[in-house]
Amino acid sequence: MALSSCDARTGHPWDHETDIVVVGSGVGAATAALAAHENGDAVLLVEKAPTVGGTSAKSAGVLWIPDNFTLRAKGIEDRKADCLEYMARFAYPERYSARGPNLGLSAGEFDLLEAFYDNAADAVDLLRATGALNLAEWRMFQLDRSATDYLDHVPENKVPAGRALGPVTADGGIGLGVHMMEQLHSALQARGLPVFLEHRVVRLVLDAAGRAVGVEAETAGGAVAFRARKAVIFATGGYVHNPAFVTKYQRNRLYGSCASPMATGDFINIAGAAGARLGNMSGAWRTQIVLEEALVSSELASGVFFPPGDSMLQVNRHGVRAVNEHRNYNDRTEVHGVYDPSAAEYPNQLMFMIYDQRTAEAFGGAYPLPEQSSGSPLVLEGATLDALAARIEARLGEIAAQTGEFSLASSFAANLKTTIDRYNDFARAGIDEDFQRGAAGYDREWYAVFSPLQADAGWPANENPSINMHPFRDAGPYYAIMLAAGALDTNGGPAIDAGAHILDTDDKPIPGLYGAGNCIASPTREAYFGAGHTLAMSLTFGYIAANAAHGEPRDSA
Ligand SMILES: Cc1cc2nc3c(=O)[nH]c(=O)nc-3n(C[C@H](O)[C@H](O)[C@H](O)COP(=O)(O)OP(=O)(O)OC[C@H]3O[C@@H](n4cnc5c(N)ncnc54)[C@H](O)[C@@H]3O)c2cc1C
Repeated sequence: MALSSCDARTGHPWDHETDIVVVGSGVGAATAALAAHENGDAVLLVEKAPTVGGTSAKSAGVLWIPDNFTLRAKGIEDRKADCLEYMARFAYPERYSARGPNLGLSAGEFDLLEAFYDNAADAVDLLRATGALNLAEWRMFQLDRSATDYLDHVPENKVPAGRALGPVTADGGIGLGVHMMEQLHSALQARGLPVFLEHRVVRLVLDAAGRAVGVEAETAGGAVAFRARKAVIFATGGYVHNPAFVTKYQRNRLYGSCASPMATGDFINIAGAAGARLGNMSGAWRTQIVLEEALVSSELASGVFFPPGDSMLQVNRHGVRAVNEHRNYNDRTEVHGVYDPSAAEYPNQLMFMIYDQRTAEAFGGAYPLPEQSSGSPLVLEGATLDALAARIEARLGEIAAQTGEFSLASSFAANLKTTIDRYNDFARAGIDEDFQRGAAGYDREWYAVFSPLQADAGWPANENPSINMHPFRDAGPYYAIMLAAGALDTNGGPAIDAGAHILDTDDKPIPGLYGAGNCIASPTREAYFGAGHTLAMSLTFGYIAANAAHGEPRDSA
């Protein structure tokens, strides 16, 4: 078989040839390519968009790296055994056992967490040492303190803050995802590693033995075939902007995403055709989103990462709270999918973020609160709570065709008043007896970051015992923003092992095929350990993939 001159399946000549073909150009792909280059492998990248960076370039650029160089410099020990307990506890709460073998996880699940811990710091150290990425501790903006993890308050988390890193910009500040991707792509360019833009990979080429030996891409000028003498690594993002896949695979309704529009899950069918086993297909990195924005377009600029305001709560169709409004976006959004088996419905499918004039003015401008709530197309308003309930009901009627005819229960208005009275008591006491809002460091510290009091708005600082809660005013107007479930991206796809090999349905590696990031079954299931979790996973497994691919035999036929 003369693979050097001919694509085995199509009979067409290969257009390009290298050791390792990397598909995508986000953080996982860029890291894989740079690591492969450091290993001495020839590498090229194939990207379907006209620009590089994917969702990684839209992100905040935070990386959650255990035992990282900034922790070590401060003398903070992030021990492997401790960190594994935190990760296992968070990702598998229903099976976690500190005393069980593999902490209660299957060997494969445990190996993935271990591989992440073992490689994450090494991966960023390589990028730093080779000048590809300048990183520093990512601190919580105006709070200027170490970033608190998303489950800081469990005893398994021995280093509850300080694992977040961010890209350092030319002026010495901490930048965003766009700056991180600029640095990584400058590094690719400086090393002469080609990036083929507007090449959409549509097919994997396997040899007669089932080994991945190349890919075929669609371009405006026709098909282009890339030969991989060693391996193919996919880091092509999730499927959140593929409506058919969202309907097919997501367990619950998902209304929109702030991911790159290129996140259409191309790898799922490409790898499926090669016999890959799929995993975590209903998974996503979740965030609440503003329904009115999602009704205009499911491609969103942002999610509701932290609902601002202290005289603010969220209620469901019954007018009752269902979640700690100040928990992290990924976990908080799970509440939209809770099923009521008696009513056979999802009572939280839409949640209503209710607030008063204090929150409207004192925190106006902190997304999703508009500068001026009154008159905003995102906001419903009522002079009284009854009037607000009527306004919500009317708007739900107008959009019924887009929400599965979601409506308010007849008890909504009465319950809303009781809910607010109860919340006001909690605010005065400083203890949320129902959902523990404000009890964890995460709630308090991220609230301070995302809910800055507008000094000139004329409202006093919150002097109640918990900064997270303030009683509602007795008088209107009152406001509501309708929230729905959304995602940063999905995180299901072909399953990998600890070497980032794509597995077949017998859990055996498909030779020569690797994956990292949101295009594969998340190695941590749906757990989001702290700010920077998803970029860190993609970066680390991209690095692991490059190193494992380095050990593949080079086909020099
Ligand atoms: C507003 C926002 C802020 C965020 N902030 C953070 C944060 O601070 N920290 C964090 O950890 N996470 C954050 N996230 C999530 C994070 O951005 C993503 O989870 C992460 O970027 C995914 O990286 P990836 O390498 O898997 O894929 P991507 O960065 O999405 O890259 C995939 C690439 O593959 C390309 N591609 C797709 N299909 C094909 C194909 N068939 N052929 C060729 N190329 C293809 C795409 O065009 C894209 O360029 C944020 C997300 C958003 C939207």
